[in-house]
Amino acid sequence: MVTASSGSRRTPRSRPTLEVSVLRVGHRPGRDPRLTTHVALTARALGARRMYLHPSDPDLTERLRAVGRRWGGDFEVVPADEWKPLLRSFDGPVLHLTMYGLPLSRVLPRLSRARRAMIVVGGAKVPPELYRLAAYNVSIGSQPHSEVAALAVTLVSLLGLPDAGGMRGARFRIVPRARGKRVVERRERP
Ligand code: SAM
Repeated sequence: MVTASSGSRRTPRSRPTLEVSVLRVGHRPGRDPRLTTHVALTARALGARRMYLHPSDPDLTERLRAVGRRWGGDFEVVPADEWKPLLRSFDGPVLHLTMYGLPLSRVLPRLSRARRAMIVVGGAKVPPELYRLAAYNVSIGSQPHSEVAALAVTLVSLLGLPDAGGMRGARFRIVPRARGKRVVERRERP
């Protein structure tokens, strides 16, 4: 693990807090909303601060807002009509997740001083410029799999496993149990 993360869920250790953003390129609005929704839910649950989405998708943005209203936290989906300028001006290392890249274990030590990082995941087709614009092309396992899996492994490696304490401002909180389901709802102040 390289660091602790944003939000209320982890205690920073010896290094400064790392703020992680995710950029999802190659989203196809109306065609695969489920996969990009899972990318966003994974980013949120595992400690990313925001997900830039190219092209934008107001329905998906609103779905994630609704998740935040119920389950808390300050994760947001930000439309990114232009992803290249976003990467060029980003103030921190850009990690492009691709099966062709260097193993994550070789890249992690180079991130130990970063305060911000951008993780880019692609879709069915990845624009070739991405390989050039990224500071690191990073692979999880050097085998083809999925943007959701690759993102999850990378976030846990960067930020550690999230606590089960619930997020700031949550209306609902899951109480972990060995069996069955328990969800508590925050009482409104009179
Ligand atoms: N040819 C693509 C590639 O470069 O990884 C595979 C496309 S895959 C359907 C969609 C996305 O999943 C990729 O853009 C990448 O972000 C992610 N992905 C798939 N396998 C990966 C791996 N082994 N390591 C890192 N990312 C991976």
